[in-house]
Order: sequence, then structure tokens, then C-alpha cells
Amino acid sequence: MSRGNSSVASESNPDVRRLADWSAGALRELAAEYGTPLYVQDLDRVRENHERLAAAFPDAGVHYAVKANAGRAVLETLREAGAGAESVPAGTKNAPVGAECASAGEVYRALEAGFAPAGIHYTAVNPPARDLAFVLEEAPEVTVVAGARDTITRLDERGFSGRLALRVHPGVGAGHSEAVATGADAKFGVPVDRAPGLLDAAAARDFDVVGVHAHAGSGMLSDADVATHREVVERVASVARETTVDLEFVDVGGGFGVPYRPDEAPLDLDAVADATRDALASVDAKLVVEPGRYLVADASVLLATVNTVKQTAGATLAGVDAGMTTLLRPALYDARHEVRSLAADANDRPERRASVVGPVCESTDVLAEDRSLPRPERGDLLAVGNAGAYGVEMANQYNSRPRPAVVALADGDHRLVRERDSLSDLTASER
Ligand SMILES: *Cc1c(COP(=O)(O)O)cnc(C)c1O
Repeated sequence: MSRGNSSVASESNPDVRRLADWSAGALRELAAEYGTPLYVQDLDRVRENHERLAAAFPDAGVHYAVKANAGRAVLETLREAGAGAESVPAGTKNAPVGAECASAGEVYRALEAGFAPAGIHYTAVNPPARDLAFVLEEAPEVTVVAGARDTITRLDERGFSGRLALRVHPGVGAGHSEAVATGADAKFGVPVDRAPGLLDAAAARDFDVVGVHAHAGSGMLSDADVATHREVVERVASVARETTVDLEFVDVGGGFGVPYRPDEAPLDLDAVADATRDALASVDAKLVVEPGRYLVADASVLLATVNTVKQTAGATLAGVDAGMTTLLRPALYDARHEVRSLAADANDRPERRASVVGPVCESTDVLAEDRSLPRPERGDLLAVGNAGAYGVEMANQYNSRPRPAVVALADGDHRLVRERDSLSDLTASER
């Protein structure tokens, strides 16, 4: 792995971009120009991630899962990565990129970013009436992916006769039985054994039944995860075989993982593609994948400034200006993100056990716990790695903290794509 000096990172399209690959100098300059906390988003890297994925799945439809990062710059980058779709043969890296949307708000954003309604999948999880009204009125050409018979009935009641797919919960995966028992899994989709009947019944009404869908979970990385993925695809394939409907596509969801730890190996995409193809062997329908994290996670870092250093008995606490309202994943999922000191003299400092904590009055407001870091000092710039997926997207204003700014890098240039909230933004919608 090499480290770029002038550009933000070097080496052409590696499987993974580590936090160490980002240029400290370039990140320091961006922090100086825009202030912190700041998300730095490399759109060239988003493009690279799409290119690798499309190369591994040359025959698949790629639908970007918008919820990973719904920023306009990201959406436009991915839409453009699939531009020229009409003029090039399917199976090239320019195959169209669609959008997988989890809400009316995401459909609204995808339309604004120029996605064609026909390229949008709307995955309706317990859809609020307001969401259905918007989507069916403004973009009736979308494919609605229903996850309950009730949802199909509601679509029928609204006179929808467009493209319909059915989401199944495949009933495999780590911790699966526990998840079903608590409803954490049953919330998404219908059981595999009920799916063929529901598809047949929907086709007997006026729907244009086009597909079956499963999204089993997130963060597939190991060989064992890939084996589970194969089982999931086999279950979905069995639905496609058993229904009497001629399905246009089988959508196996997203979940392609990225290594959050420096010693973790990247996902073997070709192994995933092979397992998927094998499991679908006898099914005559187009494969659709819905990557979210994979396309955006390593394309972004979060920059934060140390404002308080506290020495405790066991460790050093580095208080920074970003916290759980800026990057929620550590507090919400116990997720691990690498932290790197970008202090100019970081290499000359002794290592310390340190935790990086935010400014929010919650004990869960910890970005990184007990890491080895160059001794933190007030004013240091820290970078938090792999912040591009479910990062700024989950930023919120709890504790009346303004949400951070986002700067995008592309083609050797950079621009602000999202302003930092001002204090007056905090009260702007109050009456
Ligand atoms: C969240 C989600 C995805 C994307 O998941 P990643 O782990 O980010 O790839 C894809 N499809 C559906 C239905 C989802 O809910």
C-alpha cells in the first residue's frame, strides 16, 4: 500500500482503501479550509468501488441502496457511473445504476438526482400512507417491493397496477432464529414458504409481478458469510422456481461488507459472485444486487479536532468536536472505526492508550475506545476511517448540535456539497 502526497490517495482501484492511505497533508488542508467536524467524501473512490462491483457482477443490475448515503453528490456520481446505459451493451461496466429506496424521501432524492423512475426500487417496509401516496403519484413507474401481504392489499386499494416484487425473509443467517423470535427479522419480508403463493395471487390481480427480493443482512466479509449468502440466494431461487409467474429479476439485496479493522481482509467479490451464480443456476431471471456500504464506506473519512485532553487512571481521553450526533454507528451498533492522528509530528510522539469521546451529554458518546494513538494534544486533527456509509446519513441534531459539513473530492478538485448546520437551522422549523 502506498501513500499519496499530492493527491488524496494513490494506487489504482485497490480492493480496499485504508485510513492510512489518505494523505494527511491533503486532509489537514481541507480541515483548515472548512473547519471540523467535516466529512470528506471522495467521489472518485465511489466510482472505483462501483467499477469493481460491476466487474464482478457483469450481468447483474446494480441498484445503489440510497440509505447508506443519500447525498446528492453521491447519487449523481453513481447515476453517472451508469450513464450511457442505452448506448452500451448490457454487461459492461456502464450498465445502468438504479436506486434502491427505503422511503418516499429517498425516492424524492433519487428523482432529484436524475434517476429514471423505472430504475428505482422502492422497498416498502411498513410504508406510511404518506409515502405510498407520494411514490404512486409522482413515480408510478417504480418497482414496489412489498414485504407483507397487507402492503400488497394497500397497493391494490390505491389502484396501483404497476411493477411489484415481493420481499422474502430467507430464514438463514447467524442469530437467525433469535431474530425471528423477536421480530427483528420477520419485520422484513414474508416467509419463503408463503412467497410463491403470494406471488401467484398478486399476478392474478392486476399487478405486473416482476421479481422476488431478499436482503439478509449487512457486512458480509468472511468465507462463512459468503456461505450464508449462498444459502440465502438458494432460498430466493427456490421461490423463483416455485411460483408460476415468469419473474424478470431475482434481487439478492446488499450486504457486501468492507473491512473496518486494518488487519481484516477485504471481501472476495468474485467468490460472492460465483456463489450467487451457482445458487441461481437453474433460474431464468436477471440478477439484481443492492450494494450500499460497499460503494461508499471507504470513500469517506470524518475529521475532528481535539479540544480537551484528560488523563484518567487507566487511559487518556481525547475530547473532540465530533460525537454520536456526527457519527452514530459506534453508539448505535458498537461499531468499530479506525482513528488516526493527523498531527504533523504524530510519528514523533509516544503512543498512548486513548479513547476518543464527543461533546454530547451521553455516556455512549464514544467514537473509539481504548486505542493506541500518538499522544493526543489539544488542537490535533483526528481522522475517523470508513465513515462513508451510514455516517453523515445518520447525523442528527440531538443536544442541539449542528450537523457537520461535507466536502466532496473529484477529479483532483474539491467542493462543499453540504453546509454545516447553523445555530438558526436548529430552530428553523419550529412554530
Ligand atoms: C440497507 C439495505 C441495503 C444495503 O445494505 P448494505 O449493507 O449497505 O449493502 C440493500 N437492500 C435493502 C433492502 C436494504 O434495506
